[in-house]
Amino acid sequence: MDYLATKYLRSRKIPSSACSGCGLGQCHKALVKAIDDLGYERNDIIWGTSIGCAGRQTFATWKGDSFAGTHGRVYAIARGLRLALAPEKRLVLTVGDGDAFGIGFNHLLHAVRTNAQMTVMVCDNLGYQSTGGQYGWTTPPGVVTDSSPYGMFEPNWVQPGRDVLMILKEAGATFLARHVSMDGGVLVETLRKALRNNGFSLVHVVYPCTTNFGKNALGSRKPVDIFRWIKSHAKPLGLEKEDTIWRTGIYLDASNSRPEFSQFMREKVEEIRRRHGNEGAH
Ligand code: SF4
Repeated sequence: MDYLATKYLRSRKIPSSACSGCGLGQCHKALVKAIDDLGYERNDIIWGTSIGCAGRQTFATWKGDSFAGTHGRVYAIARGLRLALAPEKRLVLTVGDGDAFGIGFNHLLHAVRTNAQMTVMVCDNLGYQSTGGQYGWTTPPGVVTDSSPYGMFEPNWVQPGRDVLMILKEAGATFLARHVSMDGGVLVETLRKALRNNGFSLVHVVYPCTTNFGKNALGSRKPVDIFRWIKSHAKPLGLEKEDTIWRTGIYLDASNSRPEFSQFMREKVEEIRRRHGNEGAH
């Protein structure tokens, strides 16, 4: 990561400000590796961040242009930027589970609906960890959190039958995947595919929070305990077992199958201009 960090990240953000043992660095590393593999330079990418651990730890980290949106607004800002930017510029967003699947869900759906080019990595720490470890929209069933002392009993967004990736598929996304942060090269390969899609891509990555989730849910802050627990409950799609919480892999790859939002808008504007120009000539 050292040469990648020097090439792409601001020196004041190295090392990361995340807690010791946090899995967020694995997410970030995989994304930067995928960017480098595809030959992007730092000026090719505009990086957006949100709130919470995922947003705060990656905020203003990218050496190129970056921006931040509070409380789920990052997708709305990204859609506006998508129209303003040159088509070859790539938008990359690192957001948390709250920003993606909770408070920001409505904004996310509209980015999906319009197939606006952005590669969204949802770094999921399984709840509100930056505020002390309350449960959220992806907290696994039964686990103890700061706000669920008897175990999480609300339905969540990754359970079969209400998997949020299937909702996003119906809403019009063109690339969707799920991984855990320790998936290594497989995660990097998925991110490369997501980045190649000239449309809306989302990769949901579950990562271990050592400070709050580990302590509350597993009674341990040891990274090895939390990493093992998450890994043992993740299985590739089609190989699920009874205790599987996260089905991993590519859920949908319809890359480049329908017009990208800003491309469509530019063509539409040209068409209207031509039509009105012709009308004016008669
Ligand atoms: S609170 Fe948890 S998720 Fe947030 S930086 Fe610390 S270990 Fe990572």
